[in-house]
Amino acid sequence: MNYRVGETVQQCRFCKHTLTHSMVDLGSSPLCEDFLVEARLHAPEFHYPLEALVCEQCWLVQAVEYTSNSDIFNHDYGYYSSFSTSWLAHAKRYVDTIVERRSLDDNCFVVEIASNDGYLLRNFVERGIPCLGIDPASNVAEAAREVGVDTEVSFFDTALAQRLATERSKADLIIGNNVLAHTPYINDFVAAVKVLLKPEGMATFEFPHLLELIQNNQFDTIYHEHFSYYSLRTVQAMFVHAGLKIVDVELLKSAGGSLRIYIEHDDTTTAVSGSVQTVLDAEHAGGLFSLPTYTAFADRVVGVKHQLLELLLNIRKEGKTVAGYGAPGKGNTLLNYCGIKPDLLPYTVDLNHHKHGRYLPGSHIPVYPTERLQETRPDYILILPWNLTREIVEQLAYTREWGARFIAPIPTPVILDQA
Ligand SMILES: [Zn+2]
Repeated sequence: MNYRVGETVQQCRFCKHTLTHSMVDLGSSPLCEDFLVEARLHAPEFHYPLEALVCEQCWLVQAVEYTSNSDIFNHDYGYYSSFSTSWLAHAKRYVDTIVERRSLDDNCFVVEIASNDGYLLRNFVERGIPCLGIDPASNVAEAAREVGVDTEVSFFDTALAQRLATERSKADLIIGNNVLAHTPYINDFVAAVKVLLKPEGMATFEFPHLLELIQNNQFDTIYHEHFSYYSLRTVQAMFVHAGLKIVDVELLKSAGGSLRIYIEHDDTTTAVSGSVQTVLDAEHAGGLFSLPTYTAFADRVVGVKHQLLELLLNIRKEGKTVAGYGAPGKGNTLLNYCGIKPDLLPYTVDLNHHKHGRYLPGSHIPVYPTERLQETRPDYILILPWNLTREIVEQLAYTREWGARFIAPIPTPVILDQA
């Protein structure tokens, strides 16, 4: 079967092959960052089908295309990077290392794509290294300017790259963390990196690794705001296509298991690190280039749904209480796919005050400040940003006072042992 939306056959975003294989169908849900104010609770809510397809030619996993990205990253975009302390520490460590590795100084120019609220670039500002952030969301860009990070409100494409290269400078370092997945026009995006990078420059990108997604049932990281999910093999083919090469790769623990790739122009003399072949071999051994792997994944996703519902129903039957922790995009995929509403999860809490007093899209679960846990003392706490489980369990050490226990939904729903 060829996938169609209306009259349009779905084509691979990278290689243009006609897409015929579904990886997983997560039903329909609203955009995951569209948190609702109370007045909108009784209004109709737009739901989009949420399904990931896999290209059998280049193995790019991609969401079925329904909505334009300008709908998603509007001025009300709710995600602020600075609300995760472990992510801030990760950014600082990266800057310390890359400044030394590339001998960056005040004669250099650093560009970050999807710079959010300036959480990373402000480390360059502190060192006096000229830098520019690029982000399409005007509210987070404003927050970046407030901490001294010059920010351009725009999507990153070849037109912008050419303008920046002419008006400012080409870049010694281009950074893109968790932006490849958010980019619908990946060929133009990668071509823009080629345009903006100095001949001897380097670009680094971090993105969640498809191998981790598959092996650890991370289906909740699939949402409308993520257009693509990458293996190293596919991302390597994309950069090679644009005249660039991957010279090194690192495995990172962030976002449930990510890759950081180091990119140069394809005509540099830099030797390619052996780690590139190691990761490619692991992907091959993990079955990423074979369709039955994707079918088995879809079956496991249904299993996670049933187990999580059973766990929450049992808590209710026993007369115990449960609350959520966090309001990340992935939490909305999980809750909407599983059909979890306030009768099974009465509320969640979040550090981000922009989300307080709002309701999760689709499920209409209310979001409160974290103090609500202390006030209501739930028996169980479901951790929605499961990639931050360790950090959250530490932050919530005080909940041991009343014997609260934590639930991690992924890779298999489980009640964590008390530390
Ligand atoms: Zn393809």
